[in-house]
Amino acid sequence: MVKVYYDDSVKEDTLKGKKVAVIGYGSQGHAHAQNLRDNGHDVIIGIRAGKSADSAKADNFEVFSVAEASKQAEVVMVLLPDETQGSIYENEIKDNLEAGNSLVFAHGFNIHYDVIQPPADVDVFLVAPKGPGHLVRRTFTEGSAVPCLFAVYQDATGGATQTALSYAKGVGGTRAGVIETTFKEETETDLFGEQAVLCGGTTHLVQAGFETLVEAGYQPELAYFEVLHELKLIVDLMYEGGMEKMRNSISNTAEYGDYVSGPRVVTSEVKAHMKDVLTDIQNGNFAKGFIDDNKNGFKEFHRMRAEQKGHQITEVGNKLRDMMPFIDQNK
Ligand code: NDP
Ligand code: MG
Ligand code: MG
Repeated sequence: MVKVYYDDSVKEDTLKGKKVAVIGYGSQGHAHAQNLRDNGHDVIIGIRAGKSADSAKADNFEVFSVAEASKQAEVVMVLLPDETQGSIYENEIKDNLEAGNSLVFAHGFNIHYDVIQPPADVDVFLVAPKGPGHLVRRTFTEGSAVPCLFAVYQDATGGATQTALSYAKGVGGTRAGVIETTFKEETETDLFGEQAVLCGGTTHLVQAGFETLVEAGYQPELAYFEVLHELKLIVDLMYEGGMEKMRNSISNTAEYGDYVSGPRVVTSEVKAHMKDVLTDIQNGNFAKGFIDDNKNGFKEFHRMRAEQKGHQITEVGNKLRDMMPFIDQNK
């Protein structure tokens, strides 16, 4: 069984007393910065002028340029979009790292695919919450946390593991449990999870189900409730008690249908496609496509985003959610 680290397994809080620069104040950045500060750490923000900088100031952080924050801090946590990290590292971070500093990530992408090659005299590790940034903050304020992974890529000081664990504790992760991994494993499993199941798999499953019902003449609003809205209720049960709790809670009819029809939809062919997706992640093809498209002004990315926004489920969903006062966004 894998070792899980909790608050009391972090014996030495070696992050205490070190200045931490959180670079970027977006989804992960605001959550790391605020959780670390609430746990008594010394946090500054490195960010360009703009919306994120304004909200960091409104949250009472000291805000500097990326270069200046990297210079002042001993621990530099890079929470910029993955596709921007390479050039910002090159232009603003690299020359401001000193021997013995820590260069930290929340996703192994740029180290694993060799976009960033850190100097040999700094510690390099990752602390990756396994959930969206807004939940990293929300669960923390509620007294719980999102579980985290950590990995050490380079241990120049001999203390990288301890600092990584201390960071994971600072961000709240050890309240929920922290597991050790490698940059390779974190990067490849994270990309696979989001592509095949969590994001790509789920959105396309939901849309295909919606289209099937609407094309058969059923009302789009009803189709939306059936395949999208209700998904949360099902996933909540799986989250609490796995497949078993969910299957206990649904009707026998639904459970029987699960066994009979699930394998007709997610066939062995689907699994073979999942293996292809994993291969493209492992051999770097996916990363290359993403990096190349970014160099090309994200033309393909923006085309796909526009195409998906035009889907009927978006329009129907927008109207229906406006009529649901209990949905967080409408509160
Ligand atoms: P976001 O897109 O939410 O935030 C990015 C931040 O970087 C924003 O504050 C943005 O500021 C800033 N930024 C963008 N470009 C520049 C620039 N050129 N110079 C300075 N600042 C800039 O990113 P995420 O939080 O989603 O992702 C950060 C990292 O965390 C990634 O490595 C990601 O893989 C990882 N991660 C993300 C998760 C998530 O929940 N989103 C989950 C786990 C890991 P501005 O407002 O000015 O654009
Ligand atoms: Mg990811
Ligand atoms: Mg039903």
